[in-house]
Amino acid sequence: MATYDISVAHLYGDLMNTYGDYGNIIALKYYATKIGVTMNYHLVSLGDRFDSSAFDFVLFGGGQDYEETIVAEDLKQKATDLKQYIENDGPLLAVCGGFQLLGHYMVMADGKKVDGIGVMDHFTTNMYDKSLTVLSGKRLTGNIVIKNNDNGEEYHGFENHQGRTFLGQGERALGTVISGNGNNGMDHSEGVIYKNVYGSYFHGPIFTRNGNLAKRVLATTLQRKYPDIDWQSKLNTVPTESF
Ligand code: GLN
Repeated sequence: MATYDISVAHLYGDLMNTYGDYGNIIALKYYATKIGVTMNYHLVSLGDRFDSSAFDFVLFGGGQDYEETIVAEDLKQKATDLKQYIENDGPLLAVCGGFQLLGHYMVMADGKKVDGIGVMDHFTTNMYDKSLTVLSGKRLTGNIVIKNNDNGEEYHGFENHQGRTFLGQGERALGTVISGNGNNGMDHSEGVIYKNVYGSYFHGPIFTRNGNLAKRVLATTLQRKYPDIDWQSKLNTVPTESF
């Protein structure tokens, strides 16, 4: 009997795991197990090479400003491989700080500008940016509900960030804000979709509360690796959980 497996890279899982972002991997594993797929977990952290051909799914979680500065330095040597992975339609979930660092730059609460790797076109400014007239000077914290514009699904979560992210070329929002703040508290966008990359400010983690999104991303991951099987149909037979 054929066996199916996926290899998951947890980027800086030892440094970037705010509010248990690792739970996203547990949620994926839950649904994978239900359809007989095994998961291999790999922590890819400081000094490790990110091999773009070795992984089927990548999680890049959130972290606070201090951890982000450490990670930003190391990330430079992974930028080319990560770009290749993303452009090659590799599925990736980036949460909060991880989402920020895939863009051009982020400005921390103290005003220091940290370079991202610019493999995606967004940028993040800070809460004291004088050009921002809405909600400046406050962290964007609390429960949030968004609606995905492609399929009408609602996603529920919790956000806690000072950075204000603005999307760029080729990027669209993961959803439109129904309640809460989203990427910047101004344009009603939350998160990002670019190719098979999903970014979000949702902590807590997004896949456990939004099993339909977890199943969709898992289906994409499996379809890319094993194109001859209808993975979405298989996953549709598994009840969607909200943990
Ligand atoms: N340091 C970033 C900010 O506050 C990210 C925070 C986080 O990952 N929760 O904008």
